Amino acid sequence: MASRDTRTTRAAVVGAGFGGLAAAIRLQAAGIQTTLFEARDKPGGRAYVYEDDGFVFDAGPTVITAPESLEELFTLCGRRLEDYVELIPIEPFYRLEWDDGKRFDYTNDDEALRAQIHALNPADVAGYERFLEYSKAVFDEGYTNLVHTPFLRFWDMLKVAPKLVRLGAQRSVYGAVSRFVESEHLRQALSFHSLLIGGSPFETSAIYTLIHHLERSWGVHFPRGGTGALVNALVRLFEELGGEIRLSHPVDRLEPEGAGARVYACGQAPYFDVVVSNADVHHTYDRLLHEVPGAARRAKKLAKKRWSMSLFVLYFGTDRLYRDDLAHHTILFGPRYKGLIDEIFHGHELAEDFSLYLHAPTVTDPSLAPPGCDSFYVLSPVPNLGQADLDWDTIAPEYADRILAALERHMPDLRQHVVTRRWTTPFTFRDDLRSHLGAAFSVAPTLTQSAWFRPHNRDAKHSWLYFAGAGTHPGAGVPGVVNSAKATAQLILDDLAARRGEAAPATSHGVAEVTS
Ligand SMILES: Cc1cc2nc3c(=O)[nH]c(=O)nc-3n(C[C@H](O)[C@H](O)[C@H](O)COP(=O)(O)OP(=O)(O)OC[C@H]3O[C@@H](n4cnc5c(N)ncnc54)[C@H](O)[C@@H]3O)c2cc1C
Repeated sequence: MASRDTRTTRAAVVGAGFGGLAAAIRLQAAGIQTTLFEARDKPGGRAYVYEDDGFVFDAGPTVITAPESLEELFTLCGRRLEDYVELIPIEPFYRLEWDDGKRFDYTNDDEALRAQIHALNPADVAGYERFLEYSKAVFDEGYTNLVHTPFLRFWDMLKVAPKLVRLGAQRSVYGAVSRFVESEHLRQALSFHSLLIGGSPFETSAIYTLIHHLERSWGVHFPRGGTGALVNALVRLFEELGGEIRLSHPVDRLEPEGAGARVYACGQAPYFDVVVSNADVHHTYDRLLHEVPGAARRAKKLAKKRWSMSLFVLYFGTDRLYRDDLAHHTILFGPRYKGLIDEIFHGHELAEDFSLYLHAPTVTDPSLAPPGCDSFYVLSPVPNLGQADLDWDTIAPEYADRILAALERHMPDLRQHVVTRRWTTPFTFRDDLRSHLGAAFSVAPTLTQSAWFRPHNRDAKHSWLYFAGAGTHPGAGVPGVVNSAKATAQLILDDLAARRGEAAPATSHGVAEVTS
């Protein structure tokens, strides 16, 4: 049973993204009465779901890795994830296609993978073996040991720095990969992953090469019913534990009072002992705390950080089937790799060319489109609004047409068969998700903005204010934000216990288990 003291503690979570939901579940499971405030009409945050004319479109995350981090949320509550949602293994993980016609199925089948590497460059088979070992070593340190450690003191960082330097964390992902393999195609195949968490492969720390080992160990998954089904499973779990979720409840203000704060939303201002912000970190200081002394300065400092790129995502449904000739996840590399990525991260214009990620969920789950139809999204990384101040309302229709035209190389007569479409632009991230500069992945995951250098899981001044989500440690991506919630929830329990002069209730899962 939860202890009597935690039961009288009340927590608010602002934002129902994966990080907010995971934090809310952990707190509620520890016996803290938790209320989740979400501005939009549906939970999920970037994992919002659009439903148009019978087509179901997951707005954001589609590559579900590290299922153990999700399973843990259920097991700590005495439940099983598989009783709530089915995670379907995806094979190949990704299909990679280049402009020169080369194709690479990035698969978990060792033999098939090695045969494809051999076809690209025989010498790289041995190099890949060494890369795999390196990726495991980075994973053992960077994921297993550090991902749910809140870096609150510089000392925490100094303690791990020698290990990180030994692993070459100061190198970029592309730089690290290039030490092992020579084929440019293979270098791209092994380095594009950092784009999935908002970082340029040429600037993101080599720590993120751990994604390769993570995918090879635990696979790539897709929830039956779409990512929205996974979000719904987390909401159901939270509510079954007794948590309260208030949708269409944008929080306007957080006002410190005593040891906690009042949360202003929809004309009410209940008091909470603890507040976890899953909203954008800049938005939290700039808008929610803006009248609180010191917050404006903090917001200004955050604004000076490097923010991740943004995205243009086109969701479309077709009145014919394309799925038989497609993989679930396809990366379509354009004619340029480094040049394009540099323009996305540093340019002030929209590049003429693009590299695309095509999501074809009906390859795995046909229920996401009406019979005889397929649903898709295609994503193009683009500069954020701080870098390129573009008018996306004007650009979007023409950009969408150009992307569909480019896809016709892989999907014949596509434009004639599109029966519904909508898009997400940097404006959507800025306006609907309240994200600074319309960044899709919050503060960029560079080495000097990671671990202790990243916005901390607890505010330095207000002991009631915590963060969970892409803007805090460890960073973006579903496993990242779910682990940020683990770090933050344990911190909260430690802090509450310290206030009471007790040891924090901890388990192998990081927080107290609910036994009732
Ligand atoms: C198109 C796209 C594709 C992606 N693909 C993948 C993928 O395949 N795999 C992967 O692992 N990751 C992927 N990511 C990254 C991943 O989706 C995100 O890093 C992660 O979901 C962010 O979760 P979060 O907890 O930070 O919260 P968010 O999803 O950012 O949610 C924050 C929530 O806070 C709410 N909020 C904000 N302000 C307020 C307020 N004042 N009051 C109340 N509520 C507020 C917002 O409405 C939102 O619901 C993708 C991201 C995008 C955009």
